[in-house]
Amino acid sequence: MKLNLNIQPLSSWVKVTHEPLIISGPCSAETEEQLVATAHLLKATGKVSVLRAGIWKPRTRPGEFEGIGSIGLQWLNRAKQETGLPIAVEVATAKHVEEALAAGVDILWIGARSTVNPFTVQEIADALKGVDIPVMVKNPINPDLSLWIGALERINQAGITKLAAIHRGFSSFEKSAFRNEPMWDLAISLKTLVPDLPIINDPSHICGNRELLPFISQKALDLDMQGLMIESHIDPSVAWTDAKQQVTPSALSEMIDGFVLRKPES
Ligand code: PEP
Ligand code: MN
Repeated sequence: MKLNLNIQPLSSWVKVTHEPLIISGPCSAETEEQLVATAHLLKATGKVSVLRAGIWKPRTRPGEFEGIGSIGLQWLNRAKQETGLPIAVEVATAKHVEEALAAGVDILWIGARSTVNPFTVQEIADALKGVDIPVMVKNPINPDLSLWIGALERINQAGITKLAAIHRGFSSFEKSAFRNEPMWDLAISLKTLVPDLPIINDPSHICGNRELLPFISQKALDLDMQGLMIESHIDPSVAWTDAKQQVTPSALSEMIDGFVLRKPES
């Protein structure tokens, strides 16, 4: 497979205020108070570089909370103004892209349920033509490296060079301790094919529970992944989505303190 992606280093588009790069925030923006309060606590840890929140939530089955919608952009913006944290949001349609851009979102990401669909990815890519914004592409739900690469190529061909991949694990029929199998080999293969591509690990969606987060996070750091996206909530027990895997900002801070970082080679 020949890969020719034009990629800028992560350092050109995100200011890492504390190593490793941590992108954190709730799975879903639920209320303005929940989002803003969580953002302030994350900022106070001094260890979070980017605030994330889902406002358009692609749920596997109908009848569940599908995101607060566009109003969440205003809440994210308030959190940004008050904390100074750049904000990241998931987009799944051209309209999401347009609204997020108009609202001053700093980083976009494409979710696992969108990466599987080339039409969806192309629609997002077309909406990004002529725009200079960082985009992170989660791996597809299924363990198909080509779909992941294809999505990265489509976004890159639209002119987006501030690009990263997010490794969030893969759906499997097998019984497992994980919500999504890490299948580290796929992320390693991507790194081999595109050495310049930053890969950020998302232990939250791999684990599906809080308990395994430190183990998966450390493994990702040991594999030289360039950051972690970890879901956090002011009160995970009452979270509207992904309650079992979210952590409080203080638990996040403690977990980060436990990470062993590789010393830069001299
Ligand atoms: C999320 O980040 O909350 C999310 C929906 O993730 P994924 O696309 O990895 O399932
Ligand atoms: Mn989630």
